[in-house]
Amino acid sequence: MARSIRPLVAGNWKMNGLKSELAIAGAVATGCDAALRQAVDLAICPPATLLAALSDSLAGTGIATGGQDCSREASGAFTGEIAAAMLADAGARYVIVGHSERRTLHGEDDATVRAKAEAAVAAQLVPIICVGETRAEREAGRAVAVVCGQLAGSVPAASGAASLVVAYEPVWAIGTGLTPTAGDVAEMHVAIRAELGRLLGQEAASGVRLLYGGSVKPGNAAELMSVRDVDGALVGGASLVAADFLAIARACA
Ligand code: PEP
Repeated sequence: MARSIRPLVAGNWKMNGLKSELAIAGAVATGCDAALRQAVDLAICPPATLLAALSDSLAGTGIATGGQDCSREASGAFTGEIAAAMLADAGARYVIVGHSERRTLHGEDDATVRAKAEAAVAAQLVPIICVGETRAEREAGRAVAVVCGQLAGSVPAASGAASLVVAYEPVWAIGTGLTPTAGDVAEMHVAIRAELGRLLGQEAASGVRLLYGGSVKPGNAAELMSVRDVDGALVGGASLVAADFLAIARACA
């Protein structure tokens, strides 16, 4: 399929992975042939404990790494937090911010997500800003309004296409095996692009990569990745199986 935006497939390992699991990334690198490398950007976001080792082991493969979260602060007395510059120092290119698990389990609001995205950009990282509605919000017909509200609150004002990735992840699709219809994804991604146009201007908005995330698997990736304005995937569970992650990436190529 002809794409105007180079796709990105990012794996979110969440709180999974000991040193022995670095072999998964090794298998991804081995299985990523030249054609795939040429067509798709790949990234793996491991737990912070593995980031430096993973970045080192993937050096020269073209596969990038990312953090799963960062502090809004640059440094200082914030026990347990990890600054964006530390992720960059460990070799990361991306950082996920505003994942629904952070929004729900850690009470992160849009202002916090925006501050984290700004901290990421200041550290030369590309934030992958996650947005998505709950099941109740979709059933109430509010999905687009909720997601556009999250964008308005979370996206840094001066973002350009190269300094921003947005991931649409319906909360009810994450880790559940459920996915929206292709039509619902298309409607949302068109709405996200339009909202980014309002926030950032058409030129910047037209180049921002919009990922879909939520139960992307080898069996549904081709359909989801062929939807208008879907420029790749944010993959949770399936990114822990090298063959599945590669199959999803191939569906974007
Ligand atoms: C995620 O956590 O970002 C995600 C999309 O998870 P899964 O693919 O497992 O639904």
